[in-house]
Amino acid sequence: MYKYTLKLEKPAYVTVGFKSEVKNFSVLNRDGKIFYIREFEPEARTFDQFNVNEAGIYTIISGQPVAGVKLTGVRYHKPIPMPKKHWNFDGPVKMIWKNINNSPACMIPKKREVYLNSMIKSYPIGVCNFVIAHELGHRYWPDEWCCDLYAINKVLRSGGNLYTCYYALEKFLNRSPSKMERIKKFIENIRKIDYGRQ
Ligand SMILES: [Zn+2]
Repeated sequence: MYKYTLKLEKPAYVTVGFKSEVKNFSVLNRDGKIFYIREFEPEARTFDQFNVNEAGIYTIISGQPVAGVKLTGVRYHKPIPMPKKHWNFDGPVKMIWKNINNSPACMIPKKREVYLNSMIKSYPIGVCNFVIAHELGHRYWPDEWCCDLYAINKVLRSGGNLYTCYYALEKFLNRSPSKMERIKKFIENIRKIDYGRQ
């Protein structure tokens, strides 16, 4: 494994190139927590591009040495258009660490309570944010795909990465017809996103 130190004085859109193809790599923050993880499928790749929305010192860990890094301003996606709200359970929400049915998280909109499984702590920060935002989406929609879109928008608006949303969906859903439906909706909707600079 190779380590490369990335010092960011401000948030940045990072282009990283590797000496040869890698199947995956990860980026740790100063505390050693996974900030970003990328798995290339079906083919390995020699470069990637991603947002880092907080200044600081990061470590890129990869199977091949980093050949070079280019930094530009953070890129923001335009928000995905959302369907009309189905219901509204706005108001303060209580976050409770409690494992319910081995699912990463769940929400009871009427009680305004979100239950978080501590398993999510071992996933990248953006994945945790995605999961929490998805649950908060249930304040407005019962449908999973609506909450996925809501979460994608939240992550993208904060300068997070689209791939992180995909990663979260892929890791936390089972291979069921409903999973395939969610992924399909996800792909359909990301096609509508334009890249724009702020
Ligand atoms: Zn849900």
